[in-house]
Parts: sequence; C-alpha cells; structure tokens
Amino acid sequence: MCRCFDVLVHIWQDFLTIAKEEAGSRVVETWLKAVSLFRWDQETITIYVEAPNAFVKEWIQLRYKQLFEVHLGRLLHVENLKVIFFIKSESTEKEGEPAVFLAARKQIVPASVKNSLVRRTTGQVNGGLNPLYCFDNFIVGSSNSLSYAAALAVAKDPGKLYNPLFIYGGSGLGKTHLMHAIGNEIHKKNSNARILYQTTDCFVNEFINAIRFNKMHVFQQKYRALDLLLLDDIQFIANKEQTQEAFFHIFNVLHDSQKQIVFTSDLFPRQLQGLAERLRSRLEWGLVTDIQKPQLETKIAILKKKASQHNTLLDDEIAEFIARNVHSNVRELEGSLVRIFAFSSLTRQPLSLELAKSVLGDTCVVDKTAEKIDFEKITAQVCKVYSYTLSELRSSNRAKELSLVRQIAMYLMKKMTNRSLREIGAYLRRKDHSTVIHAFDRVKQTINHDATLRMTIKSLEEDILQQ
Ligand code: ADP
Ligand code: MG
Repeated sequence: MCRCFDVLVHIWQDFLTIAKEEAGSRVVETWLKAVSLFRWDQETITIYVEAPNAFVKEWIQLRYKQLFEVHLGRLLHVENLKVIFFIKSESTEKEGEPAVFLAARKQIVPASVKNSLVRRTTGQVNGGLNPLYCFDNFIVGSSNSLSYAAALAVAKDPGKLYNPLFIYGGSGLGKTHLMHAIGNEIHKKNSNARILYQTTDCFVNEFINAIRFNKMHVFQQKYRALDLLLLDDIQFIANKEQTQEAFFHIFNVLHDSQKQIVFTSDLFPRQLQGLAERLRSRLEWGLVTDIQKPQLETKIAILKKKASQHNTLLDDEIAEFIARNVHSNVRELEGSLVRIFAFSSLTRQPLSLELAKSVLGDTCVVDKTAEKIDFEKITAQVCKVYSYTLSELRSSNRAKELSLVRQIAMYLMKKMTNRSLREIGAYLRRKDHSTVIHAFDRVKQTINHDATLRMTIKSLEEDILQQ
C-alpha cells in the first residue's frame, strides 16, 4: 500500500497538470508552484494548503480557490472539498491553530519530497530536466517503439544521426517523458553538457520579455550556447512571426554546429498551421516520429511500472481492468491509478478489483448491465420482499431486522452497480460511507454459511435484473 505523502505528491502533480490546462502555465509557474499540499483531513474533507507568505496566500485564495476545490476534490474522489490556505509561519503558532492541525504536523510530506517540489519551483535544475522521466521507466510497445528508439539513438550520439528529432502525437502519450529522458541520459554521460529543456510557451514569453527589456543579445546568447535544446510543444510557436524569426536563427546556429535539437508537437510538421515555410521545412530535416495510443498490453505494463514506483504490486486483474477502461492516454491511465491508490490509502482498504471498480465506476463503463440498474430498482425490490419502506431503510432506526435488510440493500447496490460507496451511503442517508463497506463485508460473509440468506439474495438479484 502506498503511503499518504506519496499520494499527496502525485495528486499535487496531477493537479498542476490540470491547472496548467485550465489556467495556463504562467499561473502554474508563478503562483501555484509557490504553495504545497500540507495535509489532507479525511474526516472533515479538508485539505490544507501551505503558502510561503500572506501575499501569495491571498492572491491564490482570491483567484484560484475554486480551481483547487473542483480539481483536488475530483482527484481525491470527494465532494464539497474544503480548501484552507494558511501561511507557513501561521502553522507554528500555538494560538488559533486547531489541535488536530498541530498533531498533524508530524505526518506532513517529508523534507526530501518537499524539497523536490520546492526545487522545481525555484527554477531549473539541470536545465529544467525532470529526473523522474528517464528511459528506464519508459515502457516500450508498438505504439511508441520508433520514437523510443530514435530518442535513444539521439541520446547516444547527439547532433549526429537525427537532427532535429521531431516527436509528435496526441496529448499524454509520453512525448515530454521521452524528451526529458534524452536530456537526462546526455547529462549522465556528460555533466558539462549545456542542456536546456524549455516549453515553447516559456520560450515565447522569454522572447517577448527580451524585446521588452532590451535583452535580445542575452536571449540569443543563452540559446546559441547550448549543446542540447529540447523544445516542447512547438505547435505553440504558430502565428508568432517574430518569435519564429528569432528561433529560425537560433536553429541555424545550433544545427550548423551539430548541436542536437529535439521538438515535440501534437501534430505532424506539415499539419501545423501558422508556421513560416522555411521553419517548417527545418522541423522536418531530421527524423520525424510519432507516438500512438498504447495497446492493452502496453497499458498494463505501464500501470505495473507506475505501481512499482509506488512500491506497490498491482494484480493482473486490477491492471487489466484499469487498462481496459481508460482509453484516452497514458496521463489519464496514471491518473486513474493515483485515484485508486489515494482511495485505498485514505480509506485504509486494501487494493482490490472491487475497490478499483468503485473508484473508476463513475468514469468508465464497466459492465453494460450494471449501468442500467439503479438504486431505486434495488431498494424497491428489497422493500417489497421484506415489507419495509424506503424511508425506513433511510431512517436511523437500528432494529435488528431492519438493520439487516438495510445491509442487504447496500450489499446489492454495491454489487450490482458501478456507483461509489459514497453515493450508496448518501442515497441511504448514511453519514459515513464506511457503513457501506461494513455492510457489504458482513453480508458477503454471512451468505457463506447461511444458505437461506444466500438463496433470498440470489432471487432478489434475479428479480432486479428482470425489471
Ligand atoms: P505528452 O508530453 O505526450 O503529453 P507526457 O510525456 O507528459 O505526455 O506523459 C504523460 C504521463 O504519462 C507522464 O507521467 C509519463 O511519465 C507517462 N507516460 C507516457 N508514456 C509512457 C510510457 N510509455 N511509459 C511510462 N510512462 C509513460
Ligand atoms: Mg508534453
């Protein structure tokens, strides 16, 4: 089972990725990366976010609170998430701080993990390379093997074979990962190599600022002096004529002196609109490779690799279940896994297929029949057989027989639908969804030795299915 801080770190990274799409990378780089997740309190459905000072806290609170509430809530698999921003110094003050909060300081993200987050906020370590993206943890399948081989070849012999290397493919399929892997590999072999990973967005901003502050020579110099330039998402240079012009010259200087350049893009160069012809032709000078959506086996291998990075072994059936149900891309695949880990860790339940189903249930189609069965049908049938009303099922009355009938209803709702424990709990007006887990386990155990109950439940199921 993964540890809580691991989960928070991953959730935070996922959140930043989403925030980048929603609010733009400038917001993420400038504001969001200045804060960190401090603690998650499952009981009060509250997440504490630590800001370095009042200015950052207020800025974020005013503008991005909703972004936090919506997306962190989704990543944590909860509704109505409360987000509390506080300043670092506030947390050490004795007064005014909830006791639970003080106690919780012990379980914060450990310094090593925190530092790695902080480091990333303060700028570029090793030319902006993310050490977590390397060749070793990139899973190769038929969908990405050509790009992988090309990236590896470029890393072995930069500037010689394929220059530039242009990798294109849909979002979340591993382009950025491969790009960092090239950089990390070259850095490993030659720590003096001048390497820069840059998003095209940042490149454009840098260029604009260089013009604004009359620093063109510094800008040009910085790029021309590189041994390896990794320019991510080059499609964003479209329609920015002046930036294209400046980049054209940088490209020529680097290429002439056999310095390696790597591009990624969501489209093939010829499909990119708003690009000067002479630049476009240069993008195709070297090798152009693509990455496609991974096949089932590759998806399973990726999931297992990611799980092992969390020190967790993933059962074949769980891996296959996730792989079959996530179709979009690898980022989404990872996101699903993180959600399952988070749920397992936060609710202290072991990883199981059931748990995976309950977590992914609302986002994917698990079983067509399960989709059609709703709570009403189940409770109506249970009420009919046992002569109770829905209000009685929903009441707090704990009379023995009624309690059992309520548990049977929960068991069937869990077994026959893809809905989450929380939804089941909410439908039956239970405050805590752990009641549902308890009910499910209890009924499951009882039917092992109670043949009458087993028969009753079986016939209940059949009746519900026939409706
Ligand atoms: P892109 O740049 O194409 O949008 P990324 O490189 O950011 O995609 O990949 C998204 C996530 O998926 C990253 O966390 C990356 O590590 C992971 N990923 C993608 N492809 C693979 C793969 N083949 N093996 C392992 N992880 C992968
Ligand atoms: Mg990318």
